[in-house]
Amino acid sequence: MKASADLVGRTLAEVAKLVEPGVTTLTLDRVAEDYVRSHGAEPAFKGYKIGQLPPFPGTLCVSVNDVVVHGIPGGYTLKEGDLLSVDCGVRLDGYFGDSAYTFAVGEISEEDTRLCQVTYEALNAGVARAVHGNRIGDISYTVQSYCEERGYGVVRDLVGHGIGRKLHEDPQVPNYGRRGTGRKLKQGMTICIEPMINRGTHAVNTGSDGWTIRTADGAPSAHYEHMVVVRRGQPEVLSTFAYIEDVIQAPYRKAVLTDG
Ligand code: MG
Ligand code: MG
Repeated sequence: MKASADLVGRTLAEVAKLVEPGVTTLTLDRVAEDYVRSHGAEPAFKGYKIGQLPPFPGTLCVSVNDVVVHGIPGGYTLKEGDLLSVDCGVRLDGYFGDSAYTFAVGEISEEDTRLCQVTYEALNAGVARAVHGNRIGDISYTVQSYCEERGYGVVRDLVGHGIGRKLHEDPQVPNYGRRGTGRKLKQGMTICIEPMINRGTHAVNTGSDGWTIRTADGAPSAHYEHMVVVRRGQPEVLSTFAYIEDVIQAPYRKAVLTDG
């Protein structure tokens, strides 16, 4: 699982090298797919099925501005000031990896920079709660209160999850909830913590393609995701943003407390 998570981090760094105005999201997706396959893994999202929907067609979810998550790669050309969330999953030797990062395309507004910073910090605050003896609700509450105190909307319709031999396993890891509630966290549990945070309200809608999730009020949204093993005393973060942040000038790096 560590190898899978590491490959996701390296794939996102390959994407990071290309994020600039004029590039299509399909280009990012092709580069990611080639990179994943050339390292002996399979894209985890490509062909993923939910109910009667057509299978997800991309290696990446590319979610621009008011798209929260699950944006389909295509002909959209990135432009200066866009906020681009990229989510990547792989399967390597039978185990899944899953992590996400929100990129600035060129210069973004101060408001969007702040959104990214708060989401990033909320992720790290949530990760710090992933220790043996806590409960899922301790993570949920920490993420929710951190973001809501700063005036942001916390998406409720989508949640983090367990991960392992399947991409999505129990337990669900909501980004909202009450302290001391929910499943007890135990040494060795591996979960994905992934706050999806809006500059407006928490409400979201699903687009006509059945996949694309947008904010209901059109406000921009950010998304960061880490894959974490619950340990005694301190969590073990399997995914890493270090490769990405070697590529971009990350303004939030100082805030990283627990990133492995
Ligand atoms: Mg993900
Ligand atoms: Mg996930």
